[in-house]
Amino acid sequence: MKKGLLHHVEVNVSDLDTSIVFWGWLLEEELGYEKFQSWEKGRSWKLDDTYIVFVQTEDRFLEIPYHRSGVGLNHLAFYAASRKQVDVIANRLIERGILVLYKDRHPYAGGPDHYAVYFEDPDRIKVEIVAP
Ligand SMILES: [Zn+2]
Repeated sequence: MKKGLLHHVEVNVSDLDTSIVFWGWLLEEELGYEKFQSWEKGRSWKLDDTYIVFVQTEDRFLEIPYHRSGVGLNHLAFYAASRKQVDVIANRLIERGILVLYKDRHPYAGGPDHYAVYFEDPDRIKVEIVAP
C-alpha cells in the first residue's frame, strides 16, 4: 500500500548542469539513488518507489528569485543510514567546498535528539541529511 507516500518531487533549477553535479553526487554516491530519467531539460533519480526530478527553469522565469524563507519549499530532508553516515557526508561537504549550515550547533542544530547535517543546493534550497 503506497497511498499517501510521496510519488515524486520536481524542482526547477537555475542551471541544470550545476544541479546535476551536486544532486548526482548526493543522491547516487551518498544516498543510493539510481539515475532514472534524463532529457535535455531534466534529470531524475529514483530510490525505491520515489523519484526526484530536476528541471531547467525556462529563461523567462529565471528572474523570479527563490528564497527558502519565502512562500514555497523550505528544505528537503533525507534519511542517512546512521549517525556515522551523517558525519561522512559532513566531511564530504567540506571537501567539496560546500558550506555546512548552523555549524556552531552541528550536528544538533535540529535539537538534542536530532542528528543531522544541513547545507544548500546550488540554488540555495536547503538540504538536510538526518540519522534515523
Ligand atoms: Zn528538517
